[in-house]
Amino acid sequence: MKRLFLMLLTLYLLPVHAGPVPDMAPDKVGPSSYVIHGPLGRPSPENHGFMNNPGFVITNSGVVVIDPGGSLQIGEMVLRQIKKITSKPVIAVFNTHIHGDHWLGNQAIRIAYPEVPIYGHKKLIERVAAGEGETWRQTMLRLTDGATEGTKVVGPNKSVEGNQEVLIDGTRFNLIYEAKAHSDTDVMIEVPAEGLLFLGDNVLSGRLGQMTHGTFKGGIRAIDLAMKSKVKQFVPGHGTTGDRSILETYRRYLVLVRDGVAKLMDDGVEDFEMKPIIRNSLVDYTTWVSFEHEFGRHISLAYLEVEAEMF
Ligand SMILES: [Zn+2]
Repeated sequence: MKRLFLMLLTLYLLPVHAGPVPDMAPDKVGPSSYVIHGPLGRPSPENHGFMNNPGFVITNSGVVVIDPGGSLQIGEMVLRQIKKITSKPVIAVFNTHIHGDHWLGNQAIRIAYPEVPIYGHKKLIERVAAGEGETWRQTMLRLTDGATEGTKVVGPNKSVEGNQEVLIDGTRFNLIYEAKAHSDTDVMIEVPAEGLLFLGDNVLSGRLGQMTHGTFKGGIRAIDLAMKSKVKQFVPGHGTTGDRSILETYRRYLVLVRDGVAKLMDDGVEDFEMKPIIRNSLVDYTTWVSFEHEFGRHISLAYLEVEAEMF
């Protein structure tokens, strides 16, 4: 019966296919860990919607994947890269947060490994059940002009609460959670044996991202939690893996925006007048991808956040 169910599930998940995503070589970031550093940008027909940093950790007898990307095709590309490095099967998947560019690739893994557990924060699972995965699926399809065609919503099926340890095949994954960071679903994943911390979108490098589902204050708190880690290598949700300095750089951006807005509010400056003033304090970030797209929105969101705290 179970076998029949899995067979039907696999048949349902099988795609009507758009073209494959070109291979991108993984970078070795730990003794047994790799990251495919995705292109920096917003989803487009050119990048096929590929823009995040899928990671994988090879354990004793399997592979643990972190954020397999934003479509079926990206997930398939990730699997192709894994197979070039190891013949071990995928035994678990982590999804760092609700944004579909990180996890719609689950489908590819589920097709290849129908019983693989997919871990995500319980709020992420609730949001997918409430339809946010479907919204993301449609957004990716629209922004890529159909390059993600065939992608189906396969959310996590293993709920995690936040700050806890998950032991998989002898490797310890420490989950670090701050309730209102980049979103309320963001889990950061520390792998001490690999000297690595996967930050999800709580930290980006060389690119700004949306803050619509999060708070600046919580984002700063999350980075402070990540800073307590003893590991040496940090993997952002988008952008290049690096040392502790990538945490400091992104934290400084969040602080400059939030504190800049709070100070100007004190001075009686209006929301729209703030943008050019705060922009002057952000010269180190104006070359980041999506700066012009996100920065104005960040000011407006920080304004609402600080205002809400006043009452
Ligand atoms: Zn995100």
